Formats: sequence, structure tokens, C-alpha cells
Amino acid sequence: MPSFDEARKIILSHIKTVGEETVPLMDSLGRVLSRDLAAPWDMPLFDNSAMDGFAVRAADCSSLPANLRVTGFLPAGGQDQPAVEPGCAVRIMTGAPIPKGCNAVVPVEEVIEDGARVIVSSKVLPRQHIRIKGADVAAGARMLAAGTRIRPSEIGMLAAMGQALVPVHRKARVAILSTGDELIELGEIPGPGKVINSNALSLAAGVRQAGAEPVLIGIARDDLASQKEKILEGLACDALITSAGVSAGDRDLVREVLAQLGAQELFWKIEMKPGGPTAFAVLDGKPVFSLPGNPVSTMVTFEFLVKPALLRMMGQHKVIRPFIKGILAEDAHKKVGKLNFIRVTIKKRHGRYVAHCAGDQHTGVLSTMTRCDALAALPSDLSFVPAGSEIDLVLLRDVDLVEEE
Ligand code: AMP
Ligand code: MG
Repeated sequence: MPSFDEARKIILSHIKTVGEETVPLMDSLGRVLSRDLAAPWDMPLFDNSAMDGFAVRAADCSSLPANLRVTGFLPAGGQDQPAVEPGCAVRIMTGAPIPKGCNAVVPVEEVIEDGARVIVSSKVLPRQHIRIKGADVAAGARMLAAGTRIRPSEIGMLAAMGQALVPVHRKARVAILSTGDELIELGEIPGPGKVINSNALSLAAGVRQAGAEPVLIGIARDDLASQKEKILEGLACDALITSAGVSAGDRDLVREVLAQLGAQELFWKIEMKPGGPTAFAVLDGKPVFSLPGNPVSTMVTFEFLVKPALLRMMGQHKVIRPFIKGILAEDAHKKVGKLNFIRVTIKKRHGRYVAHCAGDQHTGVLSTMTRCDALAALPSDLSFVPAGSEIDLVLLRDVDLVEEE
């Protein structure tokens, strides 16, 4: 039985990247660049002023104070002007091109204006307050690397470089299949013994949050024929996630169906809790994640095992969120032999994350999941973790945000 880390390694080693597509700039937000992009031109495109002030020849200001004749005005968007003669200056605004002859800008705050003349009395260095052509990014240099997830800052760079279309990995299409005779769909009224298929929707939400496209293929009943049909339908997508029917119960048929279809099972069962009975297989070259059905097990295994795989499929290089350190607030008991993830709320004390049990830890209990801020990992080899122990955490929401003070 693989450990948690081994299971994730096995999964990632079987993941292939999906192809690419070209999308309009704004649609690239949150997507991953599929190619290195070279700058089509210099940025800035021309030497320009970083300040409102006066463009001068630094040599004219070698003995101070310098008294210069103002011969022109250059606003942002202004055109090149005739060369500025020795002893002269041009009033210039931020972003305006530096006129020929000038090699420095003196900010307006540092001069005294006197009619058509300007008096400079502070030291002037060549190139001061000038943004040099190509200093930000030179034409032909790599401006963004393949594998970069596009944020507003990348959007700004791409726009400045005239890129209306952006090459990105396409969104992985991820089929989501629920299994179980007890399941009904959202919108139906639950009769006796029935349960709404909530896993499909929490999984779809996770898939979407990962930047992929969920494809809901509904419910397969606890019989071989029904599951076979639905699994085959799911293979039209890039990956398939099933939930439930993967433990050791009489009606847990997902693995048997996959075996009958010729899937290569890479593992079944992991040394982790929740999520122990998770299986991973490859069928027709597509990864198939068979997650346990208890809603919390489904979410936790998605977070740790499926999400990194989806990110990798869509070209992202760094896909694993390392644990951060925290302090356990209360004693915790557990079984030896499994890495336990418990749902905790976080309070920050003296700059440290202190983890408190968020409530009932049974894997069917959704309220503890909605209440928790983080999952705390209690080591596999321990049966007891005393209050005050340093523990590993993965945050599930931004616990550092505060209300205005
Ligand atoms: P199983 O893994 O099939 O034994 O299911 C374990 C538990 O998860 C049972 O209580 C199921 O009713 C519940 N369950 C299974 N599938 C879903 C689902 N799609 N949505 C919500 N709960 C489910
Ligand atoms: Mg079942």
C-alpha cells in the first residue's frame, strides 16, 4: 500500500499534458501559457521621462546653479522635437519621449521657474529619471515562460506587448461520475434512503477552481452494466473521476468494472485517512481517479491527489502545495499506520497558526468541512499527538485576512 506521498508521485508520473489553444487575452486569465513568449519589441519602446520636470543636457548643469532657457513643451504622447540646443531645456511630462540632445530629467520639484527660464541648483547625473528603451524587456528576450499561470500582472505585460491572442494549454475536460443506488440528483426530493448526489457538485466545483472543465455524466447504479456504460462515456474526456463504490462492500464494483474494461490499476488503498480506499488506474491512456464516496473523503482526496494532477495536465510545473507549520491546540488520538488529515479551524497567536479541532471528524460530516480553515496532517507512525505539538497544515482558505482595524 503506497504512502500518501508515494501515491501522489505515482499519479503525477502517469499524467500527460493536454494540447494548446489560442484564446483572446482576457480569456487567458488563470490559464497556463503553453509556450515561451519572446518580446516583439523593446519595452519601453523609446527613452521617456519618469517624472514631470525638465529635460536637460547634464553637461549644462555641471556648475550649479544652471540657468537654462525653456524652448519647448513635451506632454505624454508628444512627438519627437528638434534637438535641444546647449543651454536649453524642454518642459516634459511623465511618459513623454526624451528629446534629442537631452540626457537627463530634472523633476519639477527640484527647479525654480522664472518666466521662460528654469534654474537648476541640484546635482544632475546623466540618465537620471529616464526610462531607457528596452530596459524593462528587450526586443527578442523571453518575456514570459511556458508554464506560467496568467495573473493580472501577466495580462498587463501581454497587453503592453500588443498580444491580443495568447497560447495556453486548453482546459482539461474532466468527467465526473457518481455511483450508488441511493443517489438522486439535485432538484429531486429525497425519498426514504435516498441521498442527493452532492459529490458530483463539490467535485465539479473543485475541477472548475483548478481551471479545468467539469463534465457531469450523472449517476451509475451499483451494477456492472450501468457502471461500464458510464465509465466508457467518461473516457471521451481527458480524465475521469468516480466517487463511491470503491471500498470493500458487496456493492463496491468500480474497480471490478475498470478491470473488465482493461484498466491498468496503479494502486488501490493509500496509507491515509480520510481517503484510504482510493484507487488510481489508467484506461485508454486516461487517468481514472476512483475516490471514496463519503463526501469529506471525496473532497480531501480530490484536493491532495486529483487537483495536482489536473494542474499538471494543464501545463503547470509546480503543483504541490507544501505543508506549513502550525501548533496543535488539543490532544489528538489516532490509529498507527495512516497519515490522518483532521479538519481544523485556525487562530493566529504570536504569529503562529494554532489548529483547533473543527468538530466531528467522521468522513460523512459536511458541516465540519465547511467550518474548517485547514487540514492538519497527523503523522502516520503516531497513535497520539499531544496538545502543543508542531504539526503540518494545508490551508483551505485565506486565514490571514482580517476585518478592517
Ligand atoms: P460508498 O463508498 O459507496 O460505500 O459510499 C460511502 C458513503 O458515501 C455512503 O453513505 C454514500 O451514501 C455516500 N455517498 C456516495 N456517493 C455519494 C455522492 N455522490 N454524494 C453524496 N454522498 C455520497
Ligand atoms: Mg455505494
